Formats: sequence, structure tokens, C-alpha cells
Amino acid sequence: MVKRLFVSAELSNGATIELHGERAHYAGRVLRARAGDEFCVFNGTDGEWSATVTRSGRSGVELQVGARREAAAESPLGIQLVQGVARGDRMDLVVQKATELGVTRITPLFTEFGVVKLDERRAQKRLEHWRHIAMSACEQCGRTRPPRIDGPLDLNAWLGVEHASPQTRLILRPDAVATLGAALAPQSDLCLLVGPEGGFSDREYEDAAVAGFRAVSLGPRILRTETAAIAALAVAQFLWGDLRADGEPAAATP
Ligand code: SAH
Repeated sequence: MVKRLFVSAELSNGATIELHGERAHYAGRVLRARAGDEFCVFNGTDGEWSATVTRSGRSGVELQVGARREAAAESPLGIQLVQGVARGDRMDLVVQKATELGVTRITPLFTEFGVVKLDERRAQKRLEHWRHIAMSACEQCGRTRPPRIDGPLDLNAWLGVEHASPQTRLILRPDAVATLGAALAPQSDLCLLVGPEGGFSDREYEDAAVAGFRAVSLGPRILRTETAAIAALAVAQFLWGDLRADGEPAAATP
């Protein structure tokens, strides 16, 4: 299996990449880079490239970029996961699994019943932590484009800002009459709103409805927030994305 590595350098044929610090440790110690080894490198914007290790030692790791490679790990369905911020490791799990399941954007939200409160400094640290998790998940699963991860926002502020963009908007609600499977195929992107451990308040359901979110359920059992997010993403990719039985993206149905 080709070893995959996220780098922050610009990528082009013949470019030299110098890795120091955490990235050098990861390449040298964890992936055991040795001079002459072939790697696949990506930076989130320039696609995937072959690269050869030219030096690996105490002072760092150096690679030389070769040809561009074809990567086909992005779903035709753009999915924004809007997730009520859950406690530490649950949220980490959501970010990792959502990345594996092909989300294009993750927006963490503070909600009325959310138990996690973060001041500005801790929110920034947490955001960097989530971005790191997403990047590692990309290395593992073969994506070259990590999902965009927004800084955590209040639900109300977010509903106000996002109102104008064209998306199919669904809010996961345990007591909704319609199931996710019965929702209409998105005309363009899908936006999925998932509550934190404590769920949403009635007021939040109303505000979301005003902002165009239709309530859908994931069946008769109450799932933990991380299970709900992961299950909903798998179902959405199955119905409309790159897990479809016929392998074709869904045609929008009226
Ligand atoms: N007591 C809370 C449970 C919250 S579960 C409540 O009744 O809302 C956390 C989140 O996971 C919920 O806000 C919802 O978005 C999602 N979820 C869990 N089980 C679900 C189900 N069966 N159908 C739809 N969404 C579900």
C-alpha cells in the first residue's frame, strides 16, 4: 500500500518538500520513510502527487515531488454536517468518521442543550484538533481534500448567516414522521443538522424549520449523537452519493 502524507507545501512536479517537527516525526517514525521510498502526498488543494524520499534522518525528512496522480475519492454529493458540539471523544469520532464517509464541510454548533461550552481560546484549540483529526482520516482513507471545518458558532447565529445558500436541509429529529430514506433527492448539496447529546429544544426545531430544515428520523430507536451522524451520512451516500447500488449519482426527482 502506498504511504499517504499530508503536507502544507505547494505541490508541483520537481518541487522539494522539507518536513520538520510533527510531520517529519510522522513520516520518519510512524510511516518509516527511508531514502528512495515512494510516497503519495497531498495538501488539500493541489490534488495527489507521487513523491520520493530523498533524505530521512534526525534533521528532518525531504521529499521530491514527481508526477500528479489521479484521485477519485470525492463523492458527487456535497454534504455539510452541522453537528451540535458533543463531548470530547464523541466529537472527535464524528469528525473522523464523517471525513471517512465523505463529508465536504463540518460545522460544529453550540446549542441550548449542548453540554460543551468553550471560550474563544479553547474553541480555537479544539478547532485545530478537529482539523488535525480530519487530515489524519484523509491520509488513512484516500481522500486528498479534507473537509472544511468551521469554527464553532451558536445555532442562532449560524441559521442567520447560512439562510441564503441553496441546499437541501434536513434536521435529524427522533420523533419526526418522515424517515431520512423517504426524503427527496437533493437538487445540489445536502445539509444535515444533528443535535448534541441533549438533542434540540422546541424553539431550535422551530427556528430550523423557518430556515428551511425539514425534520427526518432515523427510525424508532434513539441513537447517540455520534451514531446518528455516522448512520445518516452512510444512508445519504447510499441514497444519493457514491455508495449507490448502481454506482451512479442520483438524478434529482421531482
Ligand atoms: N433526548 C434527545 C435525544 C438526543 S440524541 C431527543 O429526544 O432529542 C442526539 C441527536 O441525535 C438528536 O438531536 C438527533 O439529531 C439525533 N438522533 C438520535 N436518534 C435519532 C433518530 N432515531 N432519528 C433522528 N435523529 C436522531
